[in-house]
Formats: sequence, structure tokens, C-alpha cells
Amino acid sequence: MSRRTLLKTTAAAGAAAGVATVVDPDGAAAAPATTAKTGAAAQAAAKAGAIPTPEQYFGFQIGSDGHLATWDKMVPYFQLVASKSNRFVYEEVGKTTLGNPYVLLTISSPKNLANLDNLIAANSKLADPRGLSPTDAQTLAQTGVAFYYVQAGIHSTEVGNSQATIEWVYRLATEQSDYMSSLLDNLVILMVPCQNPDGLVLVNDYFVSTAGTNYSRTYPDLYHHYCGHDDNRDWFMLTQVESHMNVQIQNKYHPQVFQDSHQAGSSAPRMFTPPYLSPYDINIDPITVQQTDVVGLAMQRGMTAAGMKGVGWGAEYDYWTPSRQYCVYHGAVRILTEAASCSNLAYPLVSNNPIGQQTTDINFIEPYDQKTWTLRQIVDYVSVAFYSGLETVAHDTYNWLYNFYRIGTKAVTRTSPYAYVIPAGQRDPQAVRDTLEIFNLGAVEIKQAQAAFSAGGKQYPAGSYIIYLDQPYGGFAKTLLEVQDYPLLLQYPGGPPQTPYDVTAQTLPMLLGFQADAIPSSFSVSTKAVSTVKAEPVTMPDAPASGGAYAVGPESYGVYQIVSKLQKQGIPTFRAAEQFTDGGRTFPAGTFVLPPTAAARQVLQNQSKNTGIPVSAIGAVPAVSGVQLKAGTKIGLLKPPDNLPSGWLMYIFDQYGVKYSIVEAKDYKNLSGKFDAIVMPQGVSKNSITNGLNANNYPADDWSWAFGVGDAGWTALHDFVTNGGTLVAYGSGSTTAQSLFSLPISSILPNDSTKFYCPGSLLSQELDPNNPVAWGMDPNHPVWFNEDRAYQLTSTTTYPVEVVAKYPDSGDQLQSGWLIGGQYLNGAVNGLSWTVGKGYVVTFGSEIGFRTWNRGEEKMIFNAMYYGPSAKLTAAQFQRLGQ
Ligand SMILES: [Zn+2]
Repeated sequence: MSRRTLLKTTAAAGAAAGVATVVDPDGAAAAPATTAKTGAAAQAAAKAGAIPTPEQYFGFQIGSDGHLATWDKMVPYFQLVASKSNRFVYEEVGKTTLGNPYVLLTISSPKNLANLDNLIAANSKLADPRGLSPTDAQTLAQTGVAFYYVQAGIHSTEVGNSQATIEWVYRLATEQSDYMSSLLDNLVILMVPCQNPDGLVLVNDYFVSTAGTNYSRTYPDLYHHYCGHDDNRDWFMLTQVESHMNVQIQNKYHPQVFQDSHQAGSSAPRMFTPPYLSPYDINIDPITVQQTDVVGLAMQRGMTAAGMKGVGWGAEYDYWTPSRQYCVYHGAVRILTEAASCSNLAYPLVSNNPIGQQTTDINFIEPYDQKTWTLRQIVDYVSVAFYSGLETVAHDTYNWLYNFYRIGTKAVTRTSPYAYVIPAGQRDPQAVRDTLEIFNLGAVEIKQAQAAFSAGGKQYPAGSYIIYLDQPYGGFAKTLLEVQDYPLLLQYPGGPPQTPYDVTAQTLPMLLGFQADAIPSSFSVSTKAVSTVKAEPVTMPDAPASGGAYAVGPESYGVYQIVSKLQKQGIPTFRAAEQFTDGGRTFPAGTFVLPPTAAARQVLQNQSKNTGIPVSAIGAVPAVSGVQLKAGTKIGLLKPPDNLPSGWLMYIFDQYGVKYSIVEAKDYKNLSGKFDAIVMPQGVSKNSITNGLNANNYPADDWSWAFGVGDAGWTALHDFVTNGGTLVAYGSGSTTAQSLFSLPISSILPNDSTKFYCPGSLLSQELDPNNPVAWGMDPNHPVWFNEDRAYQLTSTTTYPVEVVAKYPDSGDQLQSGWLIGGQYLNGAVNGLSWTVGKGYVVTFGSEIGFRTWNRGEEKMIFNAMYYGPSAKLTAAQFQRLGQ
């Protein structure tokens, strides 16, 4: 279908008054804009004819086979359009992880844009209706306009949507029609043409640079520097700067609709939109759930009316995890659109038969009857869906705005539970602080008690944090603090589970390791608002007396920010391997002990202030066994291309200042010289090491680091350990370590999902805090389990081995989320530490580093990687602090 035909069809399908008139461009030469919108430019704004068409500007029709526009041309085009159109505001919200511009286009009628501040203010009142009467809300709903946020390109290899935004921009800027007026008069469109510009640059530039070669055209590594495809699993932890900018836009404008534009596999329906499958999170307002279906079905109607076959809804995607949806806890529907992909990013998919499902169903009415599928078709489908979404909201703004008020009203009058209390003085101040920072980013109001108080039958000290739930975004806090009870959804009675689209639990107190109590009924205490989250105030002790030392407890995962600094400065750092007492206080095994030098004091003073982790002075160094960390411990990270877990671990390492490097193919010649400890995350396999990236498909200049190292490399990794190195493996990495050393463990979980199934839940666990790997852990800290492994030890004599973590011998194991067949876990082992030759190996069957979510457990990766290379000291040596 040609673009011209599409434009007419769309307008007709929208049932808007009038027929679309496409303004022909005047053929002005393409020229990048170099300045921001000026007064003079605004004067000339109405001259839409001066805006080059995408084809004129980019030199090809958008969606043409084998052509992708690149970000370095897209950004100037958006700037150019904004400089020439009075319907557009171009804004660079900030810089991405790799320093690219993150762009927001605000699009509406000139009149609305001139009145934008007032429109935002009206929308904010509806979002937070405290003090707003129903009559006032009706007036605002009658006079306001709805805000429709659309983003594309969060997943960079799903290229079609961000390409389509170029045509959306041109049309929205230039079309003179009643239809276009009906959209622009009634909506403010917030368009983020690419949610992950770094990835667009990596993927599209790579595609362009490999044209005419025999190399693969698809960028093979993570297309978000840290989280790759998981960049849309960050919507409650809010770790990445791109997430922050997106959330900042939502918090400022309070959109009613959030359209998140994706592509699915090539055999999926040509286009998926909501309605979703069950379940939905009960913390999403029912009005939001219903309105999601309204927009999704309007898109389906639009595409079918335009003659587009193969579209469907009610499959694959559910409405459960907040990791994929911030907006729904903030009053907006989430409209996921998933167009089927073509071939090699931008080439036609050609089949011998009509593509995809060929049977009709109520949610898949017209099967797709063609044998080809092109990028141009993706652009056409997603464009019709987008305009259909705009139409359905633009033609019904009163209901959208008044329902937005209703959603807000229900939120601010919530009575159960009344509040969550996060007690002051917890064992891990970093866990509390990380949580409060998430709430702060998520526009959740945080209060701090000014006096001790009683609530829910318990006493709480002054300084405790209180999250009252009768606030606009109380539902966001609630879903993150409560236990998830995922419904038992089977494909048919007695059959296998209906798999959730992602994971099933997000309980922050369990993931991070802190206490938060739900208080069912009201209580009173004087509070103050917490507007910026800071580290807990700590007081540095006086310098210890002669023979004494500084001591830092091992409980907080934030302690590794301190350790990184100590490592960096080469400050001698010891850990007591046993519990000890000093001056009537008990210090657990794993406590960090430092000689009282001026340099140590300086680091501890700065870092305790930054982290809120207290430092103590002890009067005498205890006579207990211990270790001295190796100064400048050399950490290696096994990171196969496009491996998400290693990307997330890089993020935490960078946050904490850990010095590490990626293990590259050339390093296998001298692993022992390069590394003291190597981390093997989930997803690292023998194949990813020995075969690696296929050297025939990727240019060596850029990718030789990821090429396979063959059996010789595999043997070198084995010898690295037996000669004294440390290997820390988790998730499927534990299976890789098992095969590397023939570890005597066997998986004990049934492969049959009707018997055992656990798709991302929190389970019971028993940890040994006297084992160096679990130093500082709560012995009952829950384990994150995401279709992972659980083992039984088949021999305790092959290698010296210790159990770090196991599942309880009885009980159903589930703490939050969904679990079928928990009894199969009873008594199984999870974390093990092994002596292999002169080396040290730690294996966890579960993913103790999952997207940085389970930071409470993730600490054990740090414990293990620094412990392995450390010098082991007798009690006498320790008492002399190693001298
Ligand atoms: Zn996607």
C-alpha cells in the first residue's frame, strides 16, 4: 500500500469530518537545522510547504527495502520540522547512557501549544484531585485536552516504529484537514521517537556500515549499554537514565495514554494490540483496564477497516508486572503494539505460504493472506494503529479526562491498607534508601515520623518512614511493597501453566532485604515530607586507641561501594571470619576490619556519609581467623554478546565503582595474569565460550573480543581455577561450571511444568551466614527463582564443598509470586562453595544477580569474588592484622 493511499484510508477509517488533503511539499532542499526554534522561525512556522518530505530529506521512502534512517539524520529532521511548524516543540530532555540526545516532541494545535502550561496545570489537578470538586473536575474535563504519549524504539532491532515516527512527524506538521484539526485541537501528543537512542545508533549505523558486505546486518551485542532488551523491564526499579527521563515526562504531563510501540517475531500476528491476556495487577484501576481495551480495539478496528489483515488481540501479553508498565500506576493506559518483524531488520520476509496463523478466531478475525511481509507494511500498519489510537481519544476527551479524575479520586481515598511503615534503623540502610529513591522517582509521597509512634499494634521509632496509601500513586508503592499472589492459570484443567509474559513477583522488601509493615487502620503521628532522599546521617567515631581498628558491618549490600574505594586506594582491608565482641557489642562473621590509618579514616568517613552505613571503632582486634582482601583484586566478567545478565552486572559494578574488565578472547592465553576472579553469569555456556560469535559473520576489528576460543580456551579456564583462580557462577552459569569441573551435583527438578513451575518468584531459603559467601546475609533472605536450577549433591568427596544456601526441608517454599510443586525444592541445595585444585568455585543454581532487582542476594557475588583471592589468616595473624 502506498503512503498516499494509506493517508486517505486512515482518515476515512477515523470517521472524522472531511477527507484528508495531503499538502504536497514544495520540493525544498533537505537541510539540517542547526539552531533551536527562534522568533523568526516561529514567524515562518505556518509555511508547512517549506518542510521537506521524509523522502526528500532522507533520500528514500521510509520503510523501503534495505533502508534505515539513522539517528544523526533523524534528530536534525525533527529539529527542522519544529523550527518550521507551529504545531511542534522540540526538546532534548537529556543525554542517554552513551551521550546521545533523548528527544521529546510535543505536538498539538498552535493554540494549545500557546496555552500549554495551563493545559498541563489542568491535567495535574485531575491527576491529583485532592481539593478538586466534581463540578470543577467536570469543567476541566470539558475544557481540557487529553495527553497522548507515544514512544517507539525501546527495542532497537524492532526498527519499524521509530522509522514510522518520521512520517508521523511530517504528517502531523503539514496536513491541513478537518481530520488533522480534530486530532490537534483535542490532544497534546507527546512523542518520544526513540526511547533508546543509543540502540538506534548502534543498530542502524551498524546496518548501514555493513551494506554490501557478507557480514550479518544485525548488531550482535546489547543494544542498550547495560540492559539490552531488558530496557523495558526497568519500569519499577528505574535504574537507567532513559527510564528516568521517560518517567520525568510522565510525571510532568500526566498523560492519559501511553503507547509503547514494539515488534514481535515474524510469525506472530501482523499486529498485536490490547486487550491483553489475564492476569492484570489488581493495583491497576479497573477504569484503566477497560480503557486499555478501548484504545486497543480502536486500533484493531482501524486496521481492519483499512484492509489490513492478520491483526489480533488477547494473546501472549498480560497486564501483570510493573517492570513493563510504570504508566498504569499513574493513571494512564499502557497500549502495547507489536507489529510482526520482516527479515534482517529491513528486508522482505518471503514464505512459500501465507504467513502466520491461517484459522480465524474472534480475536484474530482475518488471517493474513500474503506470502511476503515488508518493512513498508510494518510502517503502514503501525501508522494506522497510531492514528486510530489518537482518534479514539481525541473524539472522546471528556470521558478520558473525567475518568482520569475518577481514577485519581479512588486513589486518594484509598482506605486499605492505611499505610506502610518502613521502620528506622534497619540492618541495611542501602536497601531502604534504594526503595525511597524509587518512590521519589515514581512521584510517591514519603513521610518521616517526627516522634516514636504506635501503629498496627507495634511501636516504631522516630525517623521511621511512612507511605500513606491515600495518595495519587499509592498503588505504585503498594504493588512494590506487598506480597504478590499470582493466580493459578492453567492452559486447561490439569494442564500445563499458562506462562506469564514476564515474571510474577516484585516485592521490594524481599528483593532488597528490608522490613516494611502494612498497617491496616489509621494511626496518628506528626510527620514531615521527605522531598529528597538522602543517606541516613552517621557519625564517624573517634580514632581507635592503640591496638584497635575500624569495623564496618557486612549487612548492607551498599558496603561494596566502600570496599571498591578501599580497593582503588590500596588500603589494607580485612574481614573477620568469625563473630566477635568488642565493648559489649557483637560483630558478625564477615565484619570488615581496618587498621586505623589516616587514609582508611578518610575513605570510611566519606563513604559512610555517602552510604549511611555506620563505622565503628573497636578497642582491640579480636583473635579470630580472617582474611585480607587482595589489594586491587582483578575481576573478570564473562560477557557473551547480547547477554543480559552480564550487562546488568556491569551496571551494578559501574554504580559501585568496582574495577573489572570483560574477559576477551585474547585473554585466554593468560587468564591467571589478567584476573584473580572471574564471574560467570546466567547465560554463559560452553558454547558461548568455545564457539562465541561466528568470525565469518562479524568484522574482526570490532568483534574479535567475542570470537570463540575453542577447546583450548575452555581448558585454559579450567586451569585458571585449578592454578588458584576464583570462579563465581550463577543461574545457568552453574551448569557451565558443573561441566567445566564435573562438579558432583544433579538437578532435582522435574522438567514437566505441570509438576514444577516457577516463573520469577521469591522463595524461602536457608543461608549460612558463617560461610564467607553469605557473610552479612539474613539467614532467611528469600531467593529469587526464575525457571532456574536446584541441585542435590551427589558426592561430598570429589571436591571439598560447603553448602552456602539451601531450600528448607519442608513447606511449600513460596513467599511471593507463583510456584507449582514447591515440594520438589524441599532440601535441595542452591549455593555451594568448592575447592577445586588450588582454586575456589562458587555456584548458585538460582540467578542471584537478576536485573539488579535482588540486590540483597547479589551481594554474595561480591562476597565470593573478593573472598576467593584473599589471603587466609590464622587468628594470630588476624590479630596482628596480617603483619
Ligand atoms: Zn519489543
